[in-house]
Amino acid sequence: MKLIDFLNKHSKEMLFVFCLSHFEVTFKRRKNLDCLAEIDTDLEYLSATIFYGNRLEKLYRSGAYEEVLKTLAHEITHILLENLSETPGSNSKSHKVACEQATEHVSRLLYRLYIVEKGQ
Ligand SMILES: [Zn+2]
Repeated sequence: MKLIDFLNKHSKEMLFVFCLSHFEVTFKRRKNLDCLAEIDTDLEYLSATIFYGNRLEKLYRSGAYEEVLKTLAHEITHILLENLSETPGSNSKSHKVACEQATEHVSRLLYRLYIVEKGQ
């Protein structure tokens, strides 16, 4: 299975499990991305684009599917916490770090739920 097909399949299932089925997520490959993935969320139009690059591609090809899924869970969790990142003072470094930590923590909880729901 190609990475894009893997991402599309699991993102639809995660959106359902995370109670975010009203959102549409699309994927775009981006060269020179220095992280595994990043997300651009549009709360008004209930859509999001997840950008991924070589690092995620390499991870997938190495067979590290769990890491790829955890990355996907993290990005999708950003949809849930998007409002948090746009509160006053959201441009400060400490606020961004706090949002990122909250996103990571919630995504780990949701990933665990996802695994249980999938019966894996
Ligand atoms: Zn993040």
